[in-house]
Amino acid sequence: MQTLFTAEQLRDPDIAAANHELRTCVHCGFCTATCPTFQLLGDELDSPRGRIYLIKDMLEQGKPATEAVVRHVDRCLSCLSCMTTCPSGVNYMHLVDHARAYIENTYQRPFAERLLRRVLGATIPRPWLFRLALMGAGVARPMKGLIPGQSMLAKRMRAMLDLAPATIPPASAVEAPRVHPADGVTKARVALLAGCAQQVLSPAINEATIRLLTRIGVEVVIAREAGCCGSLNHHMGQHDAAMARAQANIEAWSAEKDARGLDAIIVNASGCGTTIKDYGFMFREAAPPLRDKAATVAGLTRDITEFLTEFGYAPTRPKPDLTVAYHSACSLQHGQKVTTAPKTLLSRAGFRVVEPAEGHLCCGSAGTYNMLQPEIAGQLRDRKLANIRRTKPDLIAAGNIGCMTQLGGQGLPMVHTIELLDWMAGGPIPAALADRG
Ligand code: SF4
Ligand code: SF4
Repeated sequence: MQTLFTAEQLRDPDIAAANHELRTCVHCGFCTATCPTFQLLGDELDSPRGRIYLIKDMLEQGKPATEAVVRHVDRCLSCLSCMTTCPSGVNYMHLVDHARAYIENTYQRPFAERLLRRVLGATIPRPWLFRLALMGAGVARPMKGLIPGQSMLAKRMRAMLDLAPATIPPASAVEAPRVHPADGVTKARVALLAGCAQQVLSPAINEATIRLLTRIGVEVVIAREAGCCGSLNHHMGQHDAAMARAQANIEAWSAEKDARGLDAIIVNASGCGTTIKDYGFMFREAAPPLRDKAATVAGLTRDITEFLTEFGYAPTRPKPDLTVAYHSACSLQHGQKVTTAPKTLLSRAGFRVVEPAEGHLCCGSAGTYNMLQPEIAGQLRDRKLANIRRTKPDLIAAGNIGCMTQLGGQGLPMVHTIELLDWMAGGPIPAALADRG
């Protein structure tokens, strides 16, 4: 695609990177076929190619974003299905990430929306604050019917109350900064991202991860000062907050690596994994040593299923008579290109694994998307669940807490892949299955 940036514009490294991606796009339109929002809305401007044109025009003009551009970019899930489809290798993620930050800097959203986005960006990454917010949502939920009208704000408020779980599990002791020693001989040493929202919504995921890793000879450290990966802020265009959170993790894991060595940084929430693996790009213009540390951290990062595939996994229990519908989170399949490892491990653990139709389409979770775009998110969730139910599974497994929140509570037990792998290797039965009796 021809671009018309001036030499002065191209001195900005973000514009130069965007220019590279724009010039890589040959506007063939293949990506429209797999874009969830184009599938639902049928508008070219809600397709990857349409958004690329809008972003190109916005950046070339160098003017504040318009309401129309913001509307179509906001509707993008950042599911990255278009990146899997694109034959030219356009890195749409970098393009839309830059567009979101540009919009945040140049466009004045309505006050209520600004406030909502600020509150989400400040609350969800802090587990103690997120827990308080969920408790408040639990109190407010019975009054959901009193929220008047069909405005976007009213719909968003109702969506947030719907998404808040009925009960919040107690905080787990395993997520405090400490070392979890390996059982027996230590064969490897890893850092685990304890995360933010996940540890509040489902502490069982980190517990299962630590239990399984330590049982097979892996020492697990929860590094002091490591926290939210920054992706939640990143995807809302809150650039400075995202970079600050990412830098804190980079420094924490680098210090741990220098002090006692790290073979990997393990992530069990694939949305976070996609962002951490991109730290090298995010800090490409940082001064050394931060730039090099970021690249090293990105290179060490593994989804838990990637690590287990490389390190080895062996079940110890008899095969369960259960059919698992594996939901491939977009961030895992499109963002990290981890597609076979989770299914292979689940099969090795003894489950019958089925894959729903339209597996490439997003479930509508997408970070804060299901709160900010509740109508599209709801349609995608219903479509995903209908496809899952057609496979007649006993349960759903996924490797991302966002998808689990989006698809859980809809009549089928929703379990993280690692909970199933841990169970079959000697851990406790996942609560979602135990509750069924
Ligand atoms: S598939 Fe790739 S090259 Fe073709 S229009 Fe989409 S982004 Fe551009
Ligand atoms: S990231 Fe997903 S929603 Fe956004 S343009 Fe690409 S395919 Fe469409």
